[in-house]
Amino acid sequence: MSRKKTFSLLRLLGILLVSLSFSMLALAQEEGKPLVLQEMTWTDVRDYLEKCDMVIIPIGSTEQHGPHLPLGTDYYEAMGMSKLISAKTGVVVAPVLLAGYSVYHSGFPGTLSLKPETMEQVLFETAEMLMRYGFRRFMFFNYHGGNNIVQQKVMHRINHTTEAIAVAIGVGSQIQRGSYQGEDEVGDEHAGIGETSLMLYLKPELVKMERIEMSKVTYNEKLQELWALSRLHPELQMVFNALRGVPVETKKGGASHEMYSNGIWSFSDPKKATKERGEKQVKGMVSYAVKFIEAWKLAKK
Ligand SMILES: [Zn+2]
Repeated sequence: MSRKKTFSLLRLLGILLVSLSFSMLALAQEEGKPLVLQEMTWTDVRDYLEKCDMVIIPIGSTEQHGPHLPLGTDYYEAMGMSKLISAKTGVVVAPVLLAGYSVYHSGFPGTLSLKPETMEQVLFETAEMLMRYGFRRFMFFNYHGGNNIVQQKVMHRINHTTEAIAVAIGVGSQIQRGSYQGEDEVGDEHAGIGETSLMLYLKPELVKMERIEMSKVTYNEKLQELWALSRLHPELQMVFNALRGVPVETKKGGASHEMYSNGIWSFSDPKKATKERGEKQVKGMVSYAVKFIEAWKLAKK
């Protein structure tokens, strides 16, 4: 047998052994359990990186969610769904931030907020650390609309200045799927039927249904005018939206507490929230993300 042939046989044997140990590793990993970075040891991470370079980074917020939902609602949503996705795909979840950009909710006590540039820097530096060890495919799972702009900036920075690839798979993703809108809901944006249902499914012990009251809605003259005009000219909706969810210092009347008396942004009654609806929403988001990740796994490391 020529040396060349012996070499290629040995190589083949090596590849077989390596793939065998990978599949044993996969079997050894408990099925259906999420992989959370903080719960792993460094050797777990080293072994994981031999077979996978993907990581999910949940992005949420610590901000008021009405009198009935916890301040950590968006964090629990992002983290809860990321863990479900991890359990189904075996991809590591690495939570790095508990707060997001929420300054316009600061009229309600307890709300935390980071400046967009601070948040971007923390997310980028953490991603850089993860890159050191070999992580190359980043998936941000955001569940707070106010973070979208930061998510976009971080992804752009990763994609344009490093070897890694970053995409969004939650709120603010280009191909967001699975959001479920009931038929009888009007303007259900924040801490309303949608989010209350999500929390009834993901973290029911923190939901205080008996505290729900409809928010008293107050729009200033400018907001009222644009609201009325956008009924006739739907393209003006974006101007109306640009005035809402902004810091009180802008004097636009669009801070959370200036518009909604108890922090619930909805014209529909959140008492209509159900665990079943929450389950439907969660399963929609999760199955889209899982499908995406399995497809991306087909591309080589
Ligand atoms: Zn929220």
